[in-house]
Amino acid sequence: MLSARDVNGNIITIPENIPKERLVEWQANNYYCPCCAEELILKAGQIKIPHFAHKKTSACTGFSEPETEYHLLGKRQLFQWFVDNRIEAEMEPYLSKINKRPDILIHYKQQSYAIEFQCSPISEELFLSRTKSYQDFGIKPIWILAEKRIKRKKTRQYSLSAFQWLFTVNTIHSPMILTFSPDQHKLYILEPLTPFSSRTTFSQFTVVPLSNTHPNILFSVNKTWEFHFIEEWRIKRKAWAIHSVKTANHTNPFFYELYKSGWSPAWLPSEIGLPVEGMVIIETSPVEWQGWVFMDCLQHKKIGSRIYLSQIYQAFQKRMAKGQIRLRTLPLLPGENPFFPVDAYLTLLTKLKILEFGGKGIYIIKNKLVPPTSSVECMQLENDLYSKLSEMIL
Ligand SMILES: [Zn+2]
Repeated sequence: MLSARDVNGNIITIPENIPKERLVEWQANNYYCPCCAEELILKAGQIKIPHFAHKKTSACTGFSEPETEYHLLGKRQLFQWFVDNRIEAEMEPYLSKINKRPDILIHYKQQSYAIEFQCSPISEELFLSRTKSYQDFGIKPIWILAEKRIKRKKTRQYSLSAFQWLFTVNTIHSPMILTFSPDQHKLYILEPLTPFSSRTTFSQFTVVPLSNTHPNILFSVNKTWEFHFIEEWRIKRKAWAIHSVKTANHTNPFFYELYKSGWSPAWLPSEIGLPVEGMVIIETSPVEWQGWVFMDCLQHKKIGSRIYLSQIYQAFQKRMAKGQIRLRTLPLLPGENPFFPVDAYLTLLTKLKILEFGGKGIYIIKNKLVPPTSSVECMQLENDLYSKLSEMIL
């Protein structure tokens, strides 16, 4: 930690550039933990950032140790960023009422924000309880993930753990994750998150150098749904088909139902597994949840017949109850409607002339999705669909 209580009970913070002689003076004094009041030592090596630590293994709940250099550096840089922009900031204040000690607490436009720069994984339970404690206390938490933790799979394709998905902020229409690299002195905003499966997401990094950016970028980034990854998506969807043919297992309920309905994953229409607005809320891959919507509600209907939205919702809920469609835990985006992406998908099928809007809460089957008769036809259908999609996006 970078701040502590001195012998007079005042909170003091180690200055950013402290000369060696002054450090020796500092080290001659006694310091105490603001949470547990135990005595602290001021650690300072050749390279390591000077910081306070509990003397021995301590049962202090206010602070997790040991702290890495990366964390200390990041915390200090972010703190300085707020100060430089005249935002009232406190380093590691102890909030006794909720027994929490955020990395930084800032006050901006009548609102307090707890900044947590998270470099090591913590349990989902701890993430949720900390978030809730702040929210109940009227403080908005801002969780920033260590940039070095993000795993890039390919250009514009990332693999996020369940823990990392917890950091999703902004809105389900434009979900993003804030990451920070103290080495680069830059924020990297991973956006827009466009998940293909529970872990894999398409996205790109927006680079935000601290030096010329106002911290209000952390509070207000409302953007609308945009889709940037059509070609990558297409390749990934194709790879899913090829891979699934080889590996699909009948013990998996989705593939079991698929085969029972007479569909091979290889020839499953490309209309199943499309990117839609708000889909971040669903953890199950779009191919699967859209596949369930298709199998449960659309495939047995004749052209011209009606489908009620309420029935589609019901079927979707049943799959959720069975655990075949799962929602993501997104504590920083509470209260979102899980049917939003379902609506968005039905709207897309309407634009693709598979469905037709039949009045409030009603759709009519306009064209049937049928298996192709040859692989040439299969490719042709896929081509046609993606050129339509590209036109729509443009
Ligand atoms: Zn302590």
